[in-house]
Amino acid sequence: MGLNDTPMAYRVHIGFFGRRNAGKSSVVNAVTGQQMSVVSDVKGTTTDPVYKSMELLPLGPVVIIDTPGFDDEGSLGELRIQKTREVLQRTDVAVLVADARAGLGACEKELVEMFRESGIPYLLVWNKSDLLEETPEDGENCISVSALYHTKIHELKEKIGSLAPQKEERMRLAADLVRPGDTAVLVTPIDSAAPKGRLILPQQLVIRDLIDADVCTVVVKENMLAEALQKLKEPPALVVTDSQVFGLVAKEVPQEVPLTSFSILMARYKGLLADAVRGAAAMKALQDGDRVLIAEGCTHHRQCGDIGTVKLPAWLKEYTGKELRYEFCSGMEFPQDLGKFRLILHCGGCMLNEREMRSRQRRAAEQGIPMTNYGVAIACMKGILKRSISMFPHLAEKL
Ligand code: SF4
Repeated sequence: MGLNDTPMAYRVHIGFFGRRNAGKSSVVNAVTGQQMSVVSDVKGTTTDPVYKSMELLPLGPVVIIDTPGFDDEGSLGELRIQKTREVLQRTDVAVLVADARAGLGACEKELVEMFRESGIPYLLVWNKSDLLEETPEDGENCISVSALYHTKIHELKEKIGSLAPQKEERMRLAADLVRPGDTAVLVTPIDSAAPKGRLILPQQLVIRDLIDADVCTVVVKENMLAEALQKLKEPPALVVTDSQVFGLVAKEVPQEVPLTSFSILMARYKGLLADAVRGAAAMKALQDGDRVLIAEGCTHHRQCGDIGTVKLPAWLKEYTGKELRYEFCSGMEFPQDLGKFRLILHCGGCMLNEREMRSRQRRAAEQGIPMTNYGVAIACMKGILKRSISMFPHLAEKL
């Protein structure tokens, strides 16, 4: 991925829902200008949604999620509802496509109920309006279109855009911790686990955020940190390090310089830092035989290397002195039932969108299972958590 590409996790996720004969696929294709739907008309062929990243004017970078027909007989009952809920966990705007001639049936009402329960803004799209003599009136959250004749598709896109979370409302990753013209030093170790020829996503995102805010951004490997600090005319306004070398970096960076990690910044950005700080306290209470879930957001190859599978278990053993049992999950998998775990250690989740991360956090909280993240857990185990969140006084003072 290049620096200019918007990662999937930072795109607005637009989910299309509806029964098969409402013409949902035609609406998806009209909106995207592409034939992207693979949901077959043959009954019961799939229960899996299709995701596609694209630039959608006037919205910008989005992920379109085309879901199977909600009345698909191959995904009846519980499974159908469970799959829909999974999609809703990462949906920012829901688009419900209904046949204008048929009105709202039980299927549409059930979907609306699910959108409401999940707190997701939704839009009702009356499709096939060309087949009616009188089209239903448009409202704030409803619009009549004809996918076949491409009628009011632009208006539909504008309405979706108006429901999407606005960029201005989103927090910065790091730029709010410094001022334009300040210097920030980023420590990015390049070990065997680092992806060849590029930086991992959290590092790319923080660099982008800082340079966009006119911050002089110096990126070094840990072995060049001391030299970089010496070359600066004055101490940097911020140092951000990879969690794995937190201990080493903390020794080299003067106490008065704010120091944090990429994972801590990611957790804050996703609104999860306070819970992660609370969750880290549970590490001390772990007992022999307790189960720990280590969850990573990468779908295919772990971009964070062996930190979750090798390093964290070793550090946790050293920190707790206990024999713990581990289970691992990655990508979109995250167990529904977390009851057997005593702790969840989650990666920074840069590949997962905010809604997904919050829903994982909520699931853990509802089941009473403490959940923390790699950066917070490592800082805690190395005794430097307080320092690494000192720039967020409302959290630091609770430690
Ligand atoms: S393991 Fe997690 S933090 Fe690391 S790159 Fe993947 S999603 Fe991002």
